Amino acid sequence: MSRFWVDTVRALQPYVPGEQPASRDLLKLNTNEHALPPSDLVMAAIHSVGPEELRRYPEPTSLGLRQAIAEREGLDPDQVFVGNGSDEVLAHLWLAFLSGRSVATLDITYGFYPVWAELYQSDLHLCPLLGDFSVDVTALEQVGTAVVLPNPNAPTGRALTVHEVEQIVSADDQRLVVVDEAYFGFGAPTAAPLIARYDNLIVTRSLSKSHALAGLRVGFALACADLIEGLNRVKDSFNSYPLDAVAQAAATAAILDEAWLEAASQSVKESRSLLESGLLAMGFEVQPSEANFIFTRHPQLNGERLFESLREADIIVRRWSGERIKDWLRISIGTLTQSEQLLATLRHIVASKAG
Ligand SMILES: *Cc1c(COP(=O)(O)O)cnc(C)c1O
Repeated sequence: MSRFWVDTVRALQPYVPGEQPASRDLLKLNTNEHALPPSDLVMAAIHSVGPEELRRYPEPTSLGLRQAIAEREGLDPDQVFVGNGSDEVLAHLWLAFLSGRSVATLDITYGFYPVWAELYQSDLHLCPLLGDFSVDVTALEQVGTAVVLPNPNAPTGRALTVHEVEQIVSADDQRLVVVDEAYFGFGAPTAAPLIARYDNLIVTRSLSKSHALAGLRVGFALACADLIEGLNRVKDSFNSYPLDAVAQAAATAAILDEAWLEAASQSVKESRSLLESGLLAMGFEVQPSEANFIFTRHPQLNGERLFESLREADIIVRRWSGERIKDWLRISIGTLTQSEQLLATLRHIVASKAG
């Protein structure tokens, strides 16, 4: 703390991301990175960026990338906003539409939302998840404030149907609904088709998880053109060039390679099924997941000790200390081999603890 810190910065409790360990010998299942490497076409696009494109500033609005996204989603390029990771898109969106206002989110959800609420002085209302960790749709319909929620939710992995999202959006067109689709592509339906009919809906996406590009930092928002214009006003008051030339080329190639997305998502779903049935066979409880992670607990095992036992076996997963979820672990989906390795280690731990 320095005497120069302003009050907002003194009060901030920044988001703490999952650990990025230097050692490569760990089985890293803690930050929901994709199990597979990105598309070869993405690597080729990165290599195709020449010195002239690096000497110059990049295209400030990422037009080529926005066109590729718009085409895929059946929208116009002026209904697409891109940013340096969806966290940046969400931060801009919070400043543009939610700062100083009342916002509802879930009590168990993405830990960044309370940070933006604090940074941008929103009054944050937490809607409790139901007993089985499903989202209380009726409560969100009636809450009377803007709503921000991930679909599927993190860290539970449970998803709402498009009909349920539409119930929340259509309940009151005077309030904004933000659907964070960071885990797009792993089975949950997208709310993007609703954008044609609702001007109070914003859908955000990320290339970090679905496209195996967490290191590239590209995310986007889909909404009616007036909302996108609001986001552009914030962006152009902050950083005119959030996406560098390499990121624009690589992200465009990633969006165009629909065959990669299909095959890669399929392989994550297979590994997720294997992990899920292996966990159930050992007596774990598993939340139904439509994401590239699984949220699970063992009724007889303490979550913190289980986390530590995995760590001792060089496997890192994610855990939070909140009362309702302290015994639960969020495990990212790795390759089939990695899921088998994790299951073998867990069998060993469960046998030694129960025995
Ligand atoms: C990972 C994640 C993000 C951030 O994604 P980036 O595009 O990597 O910034 C946003 N929301 C949720 C729910 C996430 O899990």
